[in-house]
Amino acid sequence: MEENKILGEENASPRKMRYTADELEYFRAVILEKREEIIQQLQNLRDRMMDPTTGEYINENSPYSLHMAEQGTDAMEREKTFLYAQREGKFLGYLDEALKRIDAGTYGLCIECIDEPQNLCDTCPLIPRERLLAVPHSQHCLPVKLKQEKKKKTY
Ligand SMILES: [Zn+2]
Repeated sequence: MEENKILGEENASPRKMRYTADELEYFRAVILEKREEIIQQLQNLRDRMMDPTTGEYINENSPYSLHMAEQGTDAMEREKTFLYAQREGKFLGYLDEALKRIDAGTYGLCIECIDEPQNLCDTCPLIPRERLLAVPHSQHCLPVKLKQEKKKKTY
C-alpha cells in the first residue's frame, strides 16, 4: 500500500508523492486544533446572537432587536455576524474534508500538479509544509493558487 512512486528521468531524485504517516498525523493535530478554535468561535457568535433575557436567537420579530434597531447599526452588525458565522461554518467543512484526505493518505497533494507536475515548488506535487500549516485545507500549491486568482480576479 505504501508505495513510493518514482517519476521520471533517470537522474531525477525520487519524487515524494505523499506525506509520511508521521507527517500526516502532525497535520491532523494541527487541523483538529484549528477546528476546535472555530467551533469555539461559532459558539461565541451564537451566544452573541441570542437575546440574553429570553434565551432565544434574535430575529426581526424580537422586541429586543426592534429596540436595538433604533440605534441603526444593529441590523448591520447582525448581518455581519451572520456572514462571519457562515464563513466560519464553511471553513469548518473544509477542515473536515482535509481530515478525510488525511485518512485517505492523499492530504497535501496539489490537485493541479498531481497529474502534470508543474514544478513550481521544490516539493511538487506535494504542497509545501509551510503552506499547509498556514492554510491547512489548501489543495493547491501557492503558485497555482495565485495563477487561478489572477484568472478569476475575485477573492
Ligand atoms: Zn502545484
